[in-house]
Amino acid sequence: MSDRTTYGQDLAPVTLGQPTVGAEELAAVAEVFRSGWLAGDGPTCRLFEEEFAAAVGTEHALAVANCTAALHLALLALGVGPGDEVIVADYTFPATGHAVLFTGATPVFADVLADTATVDPASVLALIGPKTVGVIAVDTAGLPADYARLTELTQRHGLFLIEDAACSAGATYQGARAGTLAPIACFSFHGRKGITAGEGGALVTKDAAIDAKARKLHAFGISSAHDRAAQRDLTVPEFAELGHNYKLSDVAAAILRVQLTRIPELIQRRSAIAAAYVSDLAGSAGVTLPVEPDDRTHAWQSYVLTLDRAIDRGAVATALREQGIGCTFGTYASHLQPVYGTTNACPTSADLFRRHLTIPMHANLSEADVLRVGRGVREAIARTR
Ligand SMILES: *Cc1c(COP(=O)(O)O)cnc(C)c1O
Repeated sequence: MSDRTTYGQDLAPVTLGQPTVGAEELAAVAEVFRSGWLAGDGPTCRLFEEEFAAAVGTEHALAVANCTAALHLALLALGVGPGDEVIVADYTFPATGHAVLFTGATPVFADVLADTATVDPASVLALIGPKTVGVIAVDTAGLPADYARLTELTQRHGLFLIEDAACSAGATYQGARAGTLAPIACFSFHGRKGITAGEGGALVTKDAAIDAKARKLHAFGISSAHDRAAQRDLTVPEFAELGHNYKLSDVAAAILRVQLTRIPELIQRRSAIAAAYVSDLAGSAGVTLPVEPDDRTHAWQSYVLTLDRAIDRGAVATALREQGIGCTFGTYASHLQPVYGTTNACPTSADLFRRHLTIPMHANLSEADVLRVGRGVREAIARTR
């Protein structure tokens, strides 16, 4: 994608994230145009669903408009509603907490571990109460949470467990693939995620009943137009329950069918970039690099540094941006977002929310880009300490 190999005066910006899409995706879009079915829940979505379920290693995949919709449908399919409490990993894009609010239930935020930024099972355990119905864990920045402990404690307390795998397509935990680490998992195909169609999502599960409930609710609560189109007799659907319009268009599904085949290559490239950042930045003053525990592999949706407390993150970010190096904070401490009106504390999440700095990570980065980012980070830190 990039032919920049040398340093110069007018360097092109190094973007924080960038999709890897090209001629194959365009050809797939042309093909779906010719097919005549562009709407959602059509033949191309069905093919994508089969292929994605196989790639994840699960039984069912439901293509949906985005991961937020997948999370909402997962909760609805589980029967979550007003009066229920769902324990949610605090350090996440607030879609996770929002999905709980959409059902009328209450999100109760659990703190995260300082090294992986994934939910702390001990914090989950401490929050279980009489109204608790389940837990949503998050694969933070593409790194799976500790599902062995989460599975054990949710089973012991009769709670459901959902994997927010928005960022983790292609990651693994104890040899199992992201999307199979909990009975239900939700993926995102937003432009900033590991594979993308601009917007999109999927709900995956081995549970046929959950898939069927979510499938019905994602298309207004009626049977699919695709299935009805195949029937000879005129079936007139009846609207018996309030469903949503959470369908993914077949145009997006066509793009995702190609993107899906790129997962291994994209993960390999991003892992090589992560390794290059380690060579360049390990031991640098003021920064802690992200960890990849021995029992899991990272999808590297984002590369997130933790800056020492004494460092002015805002000044580092401005210095990087002035050089055309994209950067941002990590993700959000949900409990600090006014929309939730919560008073419970998650001190580690709050601390990471203040200290995390995300630097460029995508499969199109060149080696020169990585070196330029590394040097930029070291210099910016040296200047702001
Ligand atoms: C991006 C993201 C979401 C939301 O995904 P959308 O497809 O944009 O709805 C949810 N959870 C996490 C952890 C995310 O990073």
